[in-house]
Amino acid sequence: MGDRWHIEVDRSVCIGSAQCLHHAPAGFRLDHARQSHPLEPDTDASEQVLAAAESCPVEAIVITLLGSGEAVFPPEE
Ligand code: SF4
Repeated sequence: MGDRWHIEVDRSVCIGSAQCLHHAPAGFRLDHARQSHPLEPDTDASEQVLAAAESCPVEAIVITLLGSGEAVFPPEE
């Protein structure tokens, strides 16, 4: 079975640049204030969601392993 992830967007740093939607159109949406939200906070591991997190210019997207809380992105130092 593949990993399950928990996705959070830190809306105190999100600048609404929409790179995350470009990389994972099924993973995120922007609200009226141009703040990104994960469509499914708990989701199967996904290359697109990882690419979205990596592309975010302000590292607002945080991915952890569902259950253990282990860091997926940004990776643990
Ligand atoms: S890429 Fe980052 S800053 Fe841009 S909308 Fe998505 S979460 Fe916000």
